[in-house]
Amino acid sequence: MKERKTLALIAHDNKKAEMVSWAMKNRNLLSAFTLCGTGTTAKLVAEATGLEVKGYLSGPLGGDQQIGAKIAEGEIDLVVFFWDPLQAQPHDPDVKALLRIAVVYDIPIATNKATANYVINSTLL
Ligand code: PGA
Repeated sequence: MKERKTLALIAHDNKKAEMVSWAMKNRNLLSAFTLCGTGTTAKLVAEATGLEVKGYLSGPLGGDQQIGAKIAEGEIDLVVFFWDPLQAQPHDPDVKALLRIAVVYDIPIATNKATANYVINSTLL
């Protein structure tokens, strides 16, 4: 097993502020991971925390699919995905595909802040 795990961060537009504040609050824990994320989320988290966050494409332009592919390749160990349950997304099929592939490969995928807090503080990591 890799010593340094890779964590992917994704937040829909209405959830970006929540993601940024969660990332700042958990900056020390996040610094132990190799971080990546969809384009805008990665940029915002990197700016707010000063941590390096590899950015894939923006979600609606294929970023979710890129992260899904990395999960399938075994290169992403966990995901924090703050999706927006109150607004339809143009890339809804990609969102579903990402949720699906995380389940297929049995990787932790936290889809709200409460779960993300459990996961990031888990002794199982
Ligand atoms: P974004 O993509 O971080 O580039 O905004 C997230 C999404 O909408 O899936």
